[in-house]
Amino acid sequence: MNRILLYIVIAVIALLPLLPITPAFWITHLNYVGLASLVVLGLVVLTGVSGLTSFGQAAFVGIGAYATAWLTTAMDWSPWLALIVALAITFAAAYILGALTLRLSGHYLPLGTIAWGLSLYYLFGNMAFLGQHDGIAGIQPLDIFGFSLAEGGRIYYLIWVCVLLGLWGTRNLLDSRPGRAIRALKSGQGMAESFGIDTARYKVIVFVYAALLACLSGWIYAHMQRAVSPSPFGLNYGIEYLFMAVVGGASSVWGAVVGAGLILTLKDQLQNVLPAIFGSSSNFELIVFGVLMVLVLQYARDGVWPILARWWQILTPGSTEVRRREAPPQAPALAQRPRPEAGTVVLEVESIRKEFGGLVAVNDISFRLRAGEIMGLIGPNGAGKSTTFNLITGVLKATSGRVRFLKDRLDVLPAREISRLGVGRTFQHVQLLPTMTVLENVALGAHLRRNVGVVSAALHTDRSIEAELLHEAAVQLERVGLADYMYEQAGNLALGQQRILEIARALASDPVLLLLDEPAAGLRYKEKQELAAVLDQLRQEGMSILLVEHDMDFVMNLTDHIVVMDFGTKIAEGRPEEIQTHPAVLEAYLGGIDDDLDIEPAPAAQPSSAQPVTTSGPAAAVAERG
Ligand code: ADP
Ligand code: MG
Repeated sequence: MNRILLYIVIAVIALLPLLPITPAFWITHLNYVGLASLVVLGLVVLTGVSGLTSFGQAAFVGIGAYATAWLTTAMDWSPWLALIVALAITFAAAYILGALTLRLSGHYLPLGTIAWGLSLYYLFGNMAFLGQHDGIAGIQPLDIFGFSLAEGGRIYYLIWVCVLLGLWGTRNLLDSRPGRAIRALKSGQGMAESFGIDTARYKVIVFVYAALLACLSGWIYAHMQRAVSPSPFGLNYGIEYLFMAVVGGASSVWGAVVGAGLILTLKDQLQNVLPAIFGSSSNFELIVFGVLMVLVLQYARDGVWPILARWWQILTPGSTEVRRREAPPQAPALAQRPRPEAGTVVLEVESIRKEFGGLVAVNDISFRLRAGEIMGLIGPNGAGKSTTFNLITGVLKATSGRVRFLKDRLDVLPAREISRLGVGRTFQHVQLLPTMTVLENVALGAHLRRNVGVVSAALHTDRSIEAELLHEAAVQLERVGLADYMYEQAGNLALGQQRILEIARALASDPVLLLLDEPAAGLRYKEKQELAAVLDQLRQEGMSILLVEHDMDFVMNLTDHIVVMDFGTKIAEGRPEEIQTHPAVLEAYLGGIDDDLDIEPAPAAQPSSAQPVTTSGPAAAVAERG
């Protein structure tokens, strides 16, 4: 949202209760909208951004409300002290529930949230000291330094200051190192873990974050209503909060306010209008909501907020952020890990094996890679190359065999730890966060090089570290030639450029060993030459590179050493010129055609090689078999 709109919203919020013409019920209504916005804001992060669906947020509102209700009435505590305790209880409950339920995948997670939403609801209704189904009444109103917030027009300011601070903190959080990790959760864990992101931990973090916002909402609610009972914390309210997030736009923080406002206003209006039409006082609004939900999912998947944002952009052309065109400012370079001396054995793969059921995808493969060397791993499609990559990087567990990287054994470590040791990779099937900028995608690669916690990210005190991370990302983008696309959404790049982006992201992790799975696929001839120059430069800097690639010119010109696989088995190994004339290789690629085909490495300037794929030799044969 741009600044002018933000100031308008803040001014309207600030002035409304002061205007004599504002009806009192508007203020009451806006109080409820604000309280719901806090809960929905948590759901935006949890469900919209991280892809974790929760039907149980109302239960956390209940924990906040009941904790303060009991502590301030039965124990006569100050509400502010009760807030701290309520947040602490919520933290503990969410942490435990999150650790238990977030492991569940697919539909089991929403089902799990329904289960604990119901349990907490019945717990509130059955505990004698919480007043069972009557709840707790006589809760004192809040006051701040003797200034009473008993009136709706006063607690209004507390609510909306909390909402605006929540929006600000959440925006800050999402736009930071932990925020990028959180935004990577939705993409499946493979890629994120390969850059050292502890996905299980971040899932618990967003779950606790959302629960704390819900608790805060419940705390204010209890002191505004002056009484609590179990019904507003039941499952149907949990569903309603989720509904608000979906309608508002679950991937934008402002969607929370829009969704809460729309749904509560609509509900209010429907409760007036529908009984008049149908002549009874049943809850017809639920039916209307159901229909509305179907329409939203059908016609506005991303909710209402993106549509409003687009209208605003059309109304105020040129207001889109111009300052974003420049590279991020200079910042101190990140520390680099020591490089092994040229010639040291960096990677040693010993009889590594992977079976998928009866299929032996990788059949006792061994090879070594030294510092400052580029090794090619080639073979027809399905030969087991990508599987070998996944065994080295910990994405798959080997059936048997060992992988040694400098002093460590990789085959016993998870992907996250392997990344920490200095192994960077790209994926055959590009794994980017398409709605994040190119720069942010690359910065994700530098995740392990600096540490920023959730709290300092939300409070915006991480800016100097953030600047270092973004600067590093910009440097790597410059290096691979994508500097002009820094603020483009990654999903808008051509596929070849997305592969190059993945290389920049891997480089941002400061690797000692780089594994590239078909980096040149989809590149034009000139782009391939530029890529080869970058890889050659990296080799001179002492990087070790393992490369899977189908373009034979590219492989033969660039690599020092080649391993050839076919049907999971290593069939040849040697220098490029040895491989080109190796009978087993010709057999594998050309199916036994006994013809000494010319697969000489073509000099770069030779016009005949100015084709993306050679029309004769192994590459053509591979293309046929693939
Ligand atoms: P390459 O990268 O050389 O083209 P892969 O390593 O992707 O080959 O695949 C090797 C073989 O293993 C193929 O036959 C493929 O179908 C099989 N394979 C790969 N991944 C899996 C998996 N997760 N489950 C079952 N089979 C797999
Ligand atoms: Mg592959």
